Amino acid sequence: HQDEDKLQEYMDELEFLAYTAGASVDKRFTQKLTQPDSKTFIGSGKAQEIKEYVKENNIGTVIFDDELSPSQLKNLEREMEVKILDRTNLILDIFAQRATTSYARTQVELAQYQYLLPRLTRMWTHLERQKGGIGMRGPGETEIETDRRIIRDRISLLKDKLKTIDKQMATQRNNRGKVVRAALVGYTNVGKSTLMNALSKSEVFAENKLFATLDTTVRKVVIGNLPFLLTDTVGFIRKLPTQLVESFKSTLDEVREADLLIHVVDISHESFEDHIDSVNQILMEINAHQKPMVMVFNKIDDFSYEKKDEDDLTPSTKKNISLDEWKKTWMAKSKYPTVFISALTKENFPEMKKMIYDEVMKIHISRFPYND
Ligand code: GDP
Repeated sequence: HQDEDKLQEYMDELEFLAYTAGASVDKRFTQKLTQPDSKTFIGSGKAQEIKEYVKENNIGTVIFDDELSPSQLKNLEREMEVKILDRTNLILDIFAQRATTSYARTQVELAQYQYLLPRLTRMWTHLERQKGGIGMRGPGETEIETDRRIIRDRISLLKDKLKTIDKQMATQRNNRGKVVRAALVGYTNVGKSTLMNALSKSEVFAENKLFATLDTTVRKVVIGNLPFLLTDTVGFIRKLPTQLVESFKSTLDEVREADLLIHVVDISHESFEDHIDSVNQILMEINAHQKPMVMVFNKIDDFSYEKKDEDDLTPSTKKNISLDEWKKTWMAKSKYPTVFISALTKENFPEMKKMIYDEVMKIHISRFPYND
């Protein structure tokens, strides 16, 4: 039963990703296999079922929640006669749509080429009519048809370009001197930008879609006469494509070089515990897991279970939990300083500010030990 819930949550997230990319989802298919089929990922019966559904309902694209191997992708497309997208390609597409600065665009383009290279033999020849759409932004089809050498050249060019920008950004970070640097980290859509706006009174783009923030924004924040720098970073997500982890090096460097991590959690999300794990996992991957951290559990104003249908009799037991009650939950017993807030209504902001102030002060004092 629990597995079934997990499965639906993963599908909810995939549907939200598809929505963010601009698609609407018609139907979900799931299959339990002890191991994915090495040739076609799903079983042949399931593939046939999807193929028939796609034909009957004129579906344009089938999206898989995992990264498919180049041959799985090719085999599935041949077998089902429809455009196939995997999770990685979907996320890359969203990043491509959202990259606004030349730095973010370069990073995404590099990741897209790295994804493309091993898949070059796969052509949507039988689908030539359906050009464009999700998964086709970025490197265009004419480029897909050019040979690997050109793409390899392009990859090394982009890498050089990023190296140059990385150096500039490192210099910028060094020039920030000894001011304490805090970075907001957290799963995508948890309210990092909203919190950044509330703390710095700036206008950072916040939206109920995944990855509203691709570039890092740095703002000066002052709490009780103590100034520090606050960075908003790209949202983390389960199974973040490895190509992206690598190419967003500089964005993640902000996290790696921060003195304090402010881990924001969307407590209204049913999978928030998984989200915490995913974030910790990525922090580990970029070797930032031993930094001082505070936990900010956000969206306490919105804590209720959304009923999936009328017949769902699950009581909304966790609704309207008071602050005192929150403080008795396991979340409050984390080894890190913890606070429960709403970035939207600013509930409990004084306590959060005090907590951040205390942590920043500790770092500040360790840096200027002669000031007292
Ligand atoms: P980010 O991706 O982590 O930067 O998240 P955003 O700041 O863009 O917020 C994602 C969505 O959550 C937006 O629709 C926000 O309005 C909403 N949001 C953020 N904080 C809160 C909160 O405390 N309560 C509620 N109800 N919604 C919030």
